[in-house]
Amino acid sequence: MIERILEHEKFATLIRSQSEQGTRDMALRVHPESYLQALEATSPRDGFARLDSDTTMSPGTLFAAFHAIGGACQAVDEVMRRDVNNAFVAMRPPGHHAERATPMGFCFFNNAAVAARHAMAVHGAQRVAIMDFDVHHGNGTQDIFWSDRNVMYASTHEMPLYPGTGSSGERGEYNNIVNAPLSAGDNSVHFREAMEVAVLPRLEDFSPDLVIISAGFDAHRRDPLANLNLVEADFAWATAKLMDVADRKCGGRLVSVLENDAVALRQGGEKFWLAGLGDQLADSQPGRRKGDEIAGIDDLTGALAQVTDDAPIVLMAHEPMIFRSVPDRVALTLCGHTHGGQVNLPLLGPVLGELRFGPDITYGHVQRGPRHLIVSAGLGESVLPVRFMRPPEIVEIVLGAPAAEAAA
Ligand SMILES: [Zn+2]
Repeated sequence: MIERILEHEKFATLIRSQSEQGTRDMALRVHPESYLQALEATSPRDGFARLDSDTTMSPGTLFAAFHAIGGACQAVDEVMRRDVNNAFVAMRPPGHHAERATPMGFCFFNNAAVAARHAMAVHGAQRVAIMDFDVHHGNGTQDIFWSDRNVMYASTHEMPLYPGTGSSGERGEYNNIVNAPLSAGDNSVHFREAMEVAVLPRLEDFSPDLVIISAGFDAHRRDPLANLNLVEADFAWATAKLMDVADRKCGGRLVSVLENDAVALRQGGEKFWLAGLGDQLADSQPGRRKGDEIAGIDDLTGALAQVTDDAPIVLMAHEPMIFRSVPDRVALTLCGHTHGGQVNLPLLGPVLGELRFGPDITYGHVQRGPRHLIVSAGLGESVLPVRFMRPPEIVEIVLGAPAAEAAA
């Protein structure tokens, strides 16, 4: 999926390079030796080692975590040496919840913090600014730089939300932490105001030698696990504003690292994963369509890749045809796009839905082996502003033992 997207002509001018494995010395600029040893001792030979309710290690986790810091430091090297103007590091696992000596929220090493200290230790940067617009507060980055006057950490995030930190009163020992919390339901206007009023003037005053973006994109309105309503243009706007500051203060030196995460939920003491999928027909909307091709913004592989253990997965998607490609690993898929086939003719049934999606997945509870699909008739209507013999409905799903798996 990622390879396919990067083949687009929009990305043709990008230089892409494979990250190198990071070193223990890189990690040790942020995390104590005892923490590295504890991670190495916990790393399982096979199966999983669970560190907290979200954070699990597989045999490949440490290798990936060292590659993540390696990639972040490599980006800093290239930007500081001016081999490139700026860089985006697409790495897993993320880093901003990892504190000095505590792994948290899928994070083991704090990648942005390791990158900042690398710029200072190796390239002589005096001041580094980290801007974090992930929907979650970067408690780890704040913890690491709380008493460091040479690193500014600024964050916009939803509050209250995981991990619970990030109120505007948390300012760091040298007033070097800037928290601009947003509320559930806030949108582009609130986010841009927070950036312009609380963050950008402080960044300007701080006058960094390097700007690092801790870039989670889960404040997007389509993210099912948080409640901010940003759109793609907001991330582009924020990045452009940060590049402006970098241009004026440090010759444009800016490195963006990927955060972003998924959240495991609990119901009645049982854990399950909630995964969300973008609209598979997104670009069929007027004005978004390019040529004849209907392009989606769904990424099934990417969404499921965030699941780190074998707890059941509930997948929320828009159109039910995705059910044909959903793996058996996903216990329940929820869709509403067909509205149950909103035009049902006597004897013929849901004619429009069947034409487009096939008769078997237009409405109701469908089972294929271990997988379940529930298509709700929902409210409202789609292409035709009519409903016929398919009354609007709200479906309540009770998660529980197999016998009572789904009750509509
Ligand atoms: Zn996040």
